[in-house]
This record gives sequence, structure tokens and C-alpha cells, in this order.
Amino acid sequence: MTTPIPESRVYRHLQCGTETVISGQAFEVASNPLSDMTRTWCNQCNAFFPVSDYEWSDTGEKISDYYARHSARASQLERFLCSKKFMIVCGITGFLLGTAAGIFLFRNQALWLNLLMGPFGGGLGAFGALAIYVSLGNPIAKRVCGVSDTRLLT
Ligand SMILES: [Zn+2]
Repeated sequence: MTTPIPESRVYRHLQCGTETVISGQAFEVASNPLSDMTRTWCNQCNAFFPVSDYEWSDTGEKISDYYARHSARASQLERFLCSKKFMIVCGITGFLLGTAAGIFLFRNQALWLNLLMGPFGGGLGAFGALAIYVSLGNPIAKRVCGVSDTRLLT
């Protein structure tokens, strides 16, 4: 028997005391201590606040403490590979390589086609690079946190 993966979790904004339910992809990101998430939403205040201003309602642990505790085993490299900084590096690199490839492959074609294929290749390149970034992040989070899905963490 494997534990079913929770669909949502509730956190409380300490300043106003209101609970907000997080679910879906937002919950996947918020549950991952390596997701590099620094701010999250409060339904009552209608605004984002730092994760240190929230606690999980079920455990009473601050979200920032939860991140620190579950990411303690991550190496510097693993943290970097999961960070937003690296995501941006991947996206830009993919875009530039894709643009170059698009222009190069269609260099003997009409100018309009060549100009069109640059950004098109760039879009494909950025998409591919971000797919690689996501596929790197999952196994790292699994190794560091020791669970098949970070939504299982408490
Ligand atoms: Zn609030």
C-alpha cells in the first residue's frame, strides 16, 4: 500500500490569523522545500507575504522552518539546480541556442522565413530547456526529501 498523495493543505497567515487552502500545482510548488518559493498568498489580505509569515495549520510549523528542515540534506549544487536563477539561465540559454539553430537551419531560405524561424527556434529551445530543468528538479527533491512526492511531507 502506498500513501495517497494529498490534494491540498491549509496554512495560516500569522499576521491576520486567516487560513488559506492551497491545492493543485500551487500546492506541488509550495510543498517542495527546494522550489525556492519565497512568498505565498493570503486570501484574507489579498496579497503575497514572505513564507516566514505563515504556518501549516495541521502541524503549526512555520513554512520557512519546514523548508529549512526538509532541504537540509541538499548540496549547494542541488539547491542551485532547483533555483529560479538556474531556471532563468536554462530558459535564456535554450532560447539563444534555439534562435541560432533556427537561423542556421533556414539560412538558405527566403529572408522572411529565416527571420521567422529564429524566434520560433528560440521558443522551442526555451521550452526544451525548461523541460530539462523540471525533469532535473523532481529526482533531486525526491533524493533530498526521501519521498516520492513532496506533497507527502509534513
Ligand atoms: Zn493575511
